[in-house]
Amino acid sequence: MIIFVGRSNVGKSTLIFRLTGKYVKRGKRPGVTRKPIEIGWRGKTIVDMPGFGFMSGVPKHVQEKIKTEIVHFIEDNADKIELAVLVVDGKSALEIIERWEKRGEIPIDVEFFQFLQELNIPTIVAVNKMDKVKNLNATINRLIEKFGLNGTWEDYKDTFIPISAKFGTNLDQLRKLIEEKIKESREQRG
Ligand code: GDP
Repeated sequence: MIIFVGRSNVGKSTLIFRLTGKYVKRGKRPGVTRKPIEIGWRGKTIVDMPGFGFMSGVPKHVQEKIKTEIVHFIEDNADKIELAVLVVDGKSALEIIERWEKRGEIPIDVEFFQFLQELNIPTIVAVNKMDKVKNLNATINRLIEKFGLNGTWEDYKDTFIPISAKFGTNLDQLRKLIEEKIKESREQRG
């Protein structure tokens, strides 16, 4: 099982569509079900988790409920999850993370990344919307730092990958990385 997680509007459904040819878009209106959606891909199960964090028109308590449900799903399925793809918006992620930090809160992307690490779930961070990012190298290095890792992009080439779901950039590399990580994950878990 591969899970895709990310804030809403980072381009997660566009990415899943690009990778699998399957349309997972949910209605954005409050009250619309935001359950995980499972689809088949190359003999594997892909789970599109509902987008977390701020969504316009969605009350805070609903956002919190979505987050709790995602956490529970991941905990309940930790032994089945071979890989997590955390999708971030390369253009706005750092700004949002810094805004949360200034308020003394743990940014939700950072929290999810660390949560996945704690559960030993191999994770790829897909830095989407790279078409809008001016200095990719600096952006990814700073994201690595914010995620609490030591080192630079050079050290984490198998974890952080810039892509553009909309324009199809680097998606072959992402597919390759997904296959490699799953293979590793299977070898490690036996
Ligand atoms: P989701 O809420 O994470 O599922 O996000 P969507 O897939 O609905 O995408 C949100 C918006 O971002 C849409 O307007 C997409 O067209 C746009 N988008 C998605 N991927 C990219 C990308 O790689 N580059 C740019 N510039 N826009 C993108």
